[in-house]
Amino acid sequence: MGFKLKYFATAALLMQTHWGGTIPVPDPKKEIPVRTSILNRIHVQDDVLILGGGVAGCAASIALAGKGRRVTLIEREPTPRHKVCGEFLSGEALEDLHLLGIDVTSLGAVPIHYVRLAAARRAAEAPLPFPAASLTRRALDTALIAEAIAAGVRVERGRNVQALSRTTSDVWQATLDDGTTCEAPTVFLATGKHDLRGYARPEDPQRWVAFKMYFRLAPAQVAEFANASELMLYPGGYSGIQPVEGGIANLCCVVQQRHLARVGHRWENFLAKMQKDCPHLAMRLAGAEPLLAKPIAITHIPYGYIRPTTENGLYCIGDQAAVIPSFTGDGISIALHTARCAVAAYLAAEPAPLFQAKLRSALLAQMRLAEFAADGLNNSFARAVLPFCLRVWPGVMRVTAKLTRVAQHAAVVPIQSPVEI
Ligand SMILES: Cc1cc2nc3c(=O)[nH]c(=O)nc-3n(C[C@H](O)[C@H](O)[C@H](O)COP(=O)(O)OP(=O)(O)OC[C@H]3O[C@@H](n4cnc5c(N)ncnc54)[C@H](O)[C@@H]3O)c2cc1C
Repeated sequence: MGFKLKYFATAALLMQTHWGGTIPVPDPKKEIPVRTSILNRIHVQDDVLILGGGVAGCAASIALAGKGRRVTLIEREPTPRHKVCGEFLSGEALEDLHLLGIDVTSLGAVPIHYVRLAAARRAAEAPLPFPAASLTRRALDTALIAEAIAAGVRVERGRNVQALSRTTSDVWQATLDDGTTCEAPTVFLATGKHDLRGYARPEDPQRWVAFKMYFRLAPAQVAEFANASELMLYPGGYSGIQPVEGGIANLCCVVQQRHLARVGHRWENFLAKMQKDCPHLAMRLAGAEPLLAKPIAITHIPYGYIRPTTENGLYCIGDQAAVIPSFTGDGISIALHTARCAVAAYLAAEPAPLFQAKLRSALLAQMRLAEFAADGLNNSFARAVLPFCLRVWPGVMRVTAKLTRVAQHAAVVPIQSPVEI
């Protein structure tokens, strides 16, 4: 039966939607049992309240707890689940995760050595100029939450923050779905793609829609595909496909809503159109088995946004601070970077408005370059000539990959023990 996407086209649907279906968990032994406490209308006073337990929120909470701060982290999902994400971990992300105590190799991360660009009937390949890996968000988020709990963070899961306000000049109050209030002088806003009322990011004028689907590829495709992240271009968007742990592949795509309208807002039509426009993708997916009953989708992705300002005591991190175009595969790295910078600013008693302004100037050049490159990818002439140019000069891909990274701050931890897919 066809699946109508048009219901996801309204502004009301800003929330990530899980359309059911699960993929096999690669190694149940690696699933980390997680204990959480229940707030149950208890009034909590902490040093720092962190709203959102994804990459940025967990990273900040682990670092703050490590410095002896009392931290409560509030996450609306009771357990980590699949998120719309290409699941590419750049060198900077690997380095930050290592510093937080996350060993992605033991979680089954797949090393990624090559990037391939495909448009129309052409494809070009270049080695990545930095170590990289891929790991499902479910595995990564599970490990991060477990690390936060081990670090002494009070983690409240299955609790939705509904409102955030200031009761006095130096006390912030978060109101949860059951009316419980939590107070702290400092809040880290880390709700990712989801905006809290009163702290919304601007509209997304391009009206992007993003999907993620897992596939088990046909054996003929697996060997050629191993250790590569492939970016595929088509009118109105692009998609990335790469191996993740458990011998499966993640296909993550973005498309402008007007292009989705042309295929009747249906996933299966969109998937067919992508393959028609990009035969490389058709080759990869030939004989592939979809592993989710339906794709996961989100709307409202304000690419290029960098939060210009904030209020005293409110540090905005992750996607709440900046949203880089997805093709760079750098969002997780930026989430970790902004968390680390915010923690450093907080510990140094740097006011949040000053931190946010400094973060903005630090990220501006990288963000504008990524936007410029994204516009190029979306241009029909560029789509026609890019793979050819890259074959002639693969260095362009390496240079672009380097320029769209956040600054690296120490030696990168290499990924070992490649995982066969
Ligand atoms: C199509 C697409 C592909 C991408 N591919 C990549 C990639 O390959 N590599 C990469 O590095 N980046 C990628 N990104 C970007 C990356 O996913 C994000 O930048 C990153 O997840 C941001 O981390 P975060 O902590 O800000 O948000 P998240 O990791 O999304 O975490 C936010 C958390 O807050 C919780 N939350 C939300 N609202 C509330 C609430 N009201 N109360 C309590 N909890 C709440 C959510 O449940 C969630 O767990 C991609 C993004 C898109 C859209």
